[in-house]
Amino acid sequence: MAEQVKKVTIDYMGSLFSAFFDEKSGFYYCPLCGVGEDKPIFFSLDDLIGHIRIHVKRRMGVPRVAQPRQKQDTGE
Ligand SMILES: [Zn+2]
Repeated sequence: MAEQVKKVTIDYMGSLFSAFFDEKSGFYYCPLCGVGEDKPIFFSLDDLIGHIRIHVKRRMGVPRVAQPRQKQDTGE
């Protein structure tokens, strides 16, 4: 994890949950998706909370926002 990323606790309408906050860039990371270059980032708490609510609704798996480049195997 990058040094400037802090774990923070967010109080949303009485529900406490943790998230990661990048002090240098000023954006948040989802606590469920994690921190990294290929992870989704959120520029406001509203965005982050909206994303976390999707996790709670689905309860299964993590939405894949960014996928690594894949080699196209055309089987020529
Ligand atoms: Zn997430």
